[in-house]
Amino acid sequence: MDVSIVTPVYNEVENIPRLYAQVEEAMRDCGRSYEIVFVDDGSKDGSLEELRQLAEKDERVKIVRFRRNYGQTAAMQAGLQWASGDVIVTIDGDLQNDPNDIPMMLDKIDEGYDLVHGWRKKRQDAWINRKLPSQIANWIISRTTGFPIHDLGCTLKAIRREIAQELELYGEMHRFIPILAHERGARCVEVVTNHHPRQFGTTKYGIGRTFRVVLDLITVKYMIKYFASPMKLFGMAGLWTGLLGAACGAGVIAMKAFGGVDMTGNPLLLMTFFSLMVAVQFLSLGLLGEVSARIYYGSQNKHHYAIGELINFSDHPQLNVHRAA
Ligand code: UDP
Ligand code: MG
Repeated sequence: MDVSIVTPVYNEVENIPRLYAQVEEAMRDCGRSYEIVFVDDGSKDGSLEELRQLAEKDERVKIVRFRRNYGQTAAMQAGLQWASGDVIVTIDGDLQNDPNDIPMMLDKIDEGYDLVHGWRKKRQDAWINRKLPSQIANWIISRTTGFPIHDLGCTLKAIRREIAQELELYGEMHRFIPILAHERGARCVEVVTNHHPRQFGTTKYGIGRTFRVVLDLITVKYMIKYFASPMKLFGMAGLWTGLLGAACGAGVIAMKAFGGVDMTGNPLLLMTFFSLMVAVQFLSLGLLGEVSARIYYGSQNKHHYAIGELINFSDHPQLNVHRAA
């Protein structure tokens, strides 16, 4: 299988047959075998029945049915895990992304990129509650993560399967896929893609999403930078606050010794104890973080590095263990 097209579906009954037809048309001349993995995220509008009909006619249509609505990120993660193509293309099920962009993105992968992400340069959504918050969020995310990006919200992406399946997505994190993949050494490129207004069905999101994305950003930043060594963040904060406490303490004593200032009446004394207590807390958090990182990596046999390739290791015992398992 060359390509898996992964589509999260939540109440998109009118869009499904149209999307199927458009994908079929777009992929027809591109000479690659493909499957479409629809993840039905607990739809209640008959989407599942629509999908079943397609799957009956065409065995390239695969369905992952969730028991209830878990959200787009979970749907995406399941789709990635159940895809079997060498390259996975993710696309919205609402026809806002254009399947005709897929061959161009696959060509980019052939050029040697690991991940191609779309930029909806002419995005067809309302300005005030969709495009503006999205632009601000993209700017903040780009600045904090140092990853040059215009449009993280674009679902249309192509990504090599081995990288896609390494990702762990929680919360609203499907939109951070390029950043998480980049962190694992994927070569990423952005391409301008088409975007259409929604014709059928309604959007599942409102302005509240922006705040959830910002919270996820904090998590992502932490995961990228400090997950494997939390002491670098908390320990450093602990050291600085400890130092501040020590300085305040020295100040209080000096003021008493040389200026006769009463120690108990001196607000710096409060500052001393406060800073020292916070320092101890930061340091303990750092230690706890270190322990949990070791548990995480150790118990799941994970590593904080990603190996791209192994050369001449074919009879290495470790590989045989993996094969047997
Ligand atoms: N979606 C989903 N589960 C949800 C919400 C959305 O699978 O809980 C799917 C939805 O069916 C669509 C895609 O995610 O295929 C994007 O959703 P939507 O078009 O509402 O987002 P927008 O384009 O407005 O950002
Ligand atoms: Mg949409």
